[in-house]
Amino acid sequence: MSLRHGRSYHAIPGPSVVPDRVLRAMHREAPNIYEGALLEMTDAMIPDLKRVAGAEGGHVAIYIGNGHAGWEAANANVLSRGDKVLLLATGRFGHGWAASLAGMGVDVEIMDFGRHSPADPARLSERLARDRGHALRAVLCTHVDTATTARNDLPALRAAIDAAGHPALFMVDGIAAMGCEEFHLDAWGVDVAVAASQKGLMLPPGLAFVWFSDKARAQGGRADLRTPYWNWEPRVAPEFFYQYFCGTAPTHHLFGLRESLDMLVHEEGMASVWARHATLARAVWAAAEAWGRGGAMALNIADPSARAHAVTALRLTAPDGTRLRRWCDDEAGVTLGIGLGMAEPNDEAWHGFFRLAHMGHVNAHMTLGALAVMDAGLKALSIPHGDGALEAATRALSAAEAPAAARMAAPAA
Ligand SMILES: *Cc1c(COP(=O)(O)O)cnc(C)c1O
Repeated sequence: MSLRHGRSYHAIPGPSVVPDRVLRAMHREAPNIYEGALLEMTDAMIPDLKRVAGAEGGHVAIYIGNGHAGWEAANANVLSRGDKVLLLATGRFGHGWAASLAGMGVDVEIMDFGRHSPADPARLSERLARDRGHALRAVLCTHVDTATTARNDLPALRAAIDAAGHPALFMVDGIAAMGCEEFHLDAWGVDVAVAASQKGLMLPPGLAFVWFSDKARAQGGRADLRTPYWNWEPRVAPEFFYQYFCGTAPTHHLFGLRESLDMLVHEEGMASVWARHATLARAVWAAAEAWGRGGAMALNIADPSARAHAVTALRLTAPDGTRLRRWCDDEAGVTLGIGLGMAEPNDEAWHGFFRLAHMGHVNAHMTLGALAVMDAGLKALSIPHGDGALEAATRALSAAEAPAAARMAAPAA
């Protein structure tokens, strides 16, 4: 017997759950790409896409590609070979972006904050103050690093750049955060933000998004990494539809995106979307803390204010992380994420790490269900753990203990 036969839940941090509505919107004949509904729909989608990122005063370009493509698009439009940039690494994905930059010929200085902490604005400020000649052209970081699940304080990092009076562009990998975490490109002074379709935007993989400020756009002219495909100019000001995507449009993804933007921007409202993620995250943390009071379970990020709201990295004693993951999948239909970048895959310690995503199309019953399955798995496998995890999680979700932001948040008008 197995208890997995029913609708399964892939609680991994991307590709995330695709709503049935989005799948239905994509299930259609190939549309005309020269005139008609697709063209009008795409034009009308751009303002909604800007609202997701608080970028009403900025621009957005859509690319056929995944997150790695988004990185290259961002790099190509503002940087030149040999440019110096400073990358604040808070986990595996920061190092990934650094590799993308270095591979394109950019001179990347990595300021590494390890695997358990967000970037420290004071260290950034101090480094920028020493760059008197303003050689550094950009400061880059992940909003949420999906491996460590550290969340950076973007306004504090922006303030650190301003305090140093430094003109560097502020560039953010929002791939795991966009549509999950509060984000305001204009108000927070972010110059470039990257996202991909398969995380908070609730679509299959296949689209990358790059939002950018006027300041970033103005640097485009000198960027010698810019090539025709990645150039964002025709994409934000297309003379005809074919230029939006430098070729054939990602037709079906666009119909899916229309549906997911309706859900996020027009029905739930971004403030409520962000509050839902924050509240579900608190339930996960409460459960993990309760388990940890009688066993080895630990949250990777100790400081709650530096934890992601979209995914939580957890640790048990190896090999119990892998044992628990297998049990949840085989016996209960819940797929947890593997630990990424916390140990080498052939190192025994690797089998201690795992992640629970609460990203995108996720509600209370899905997150509570995943936590209850994990609780059952800990018991079935006799992995030592503290009691009361589910009680702690439901308390965290109850109105009385919901964060003030969740109670106050109203859908955007
Ligand atoms: C998923 C992810 C990426 C990589 O995206 P791909 O679509 O796999 O190329 C990069 N950065 C972050 C923060 C991510 O979560």
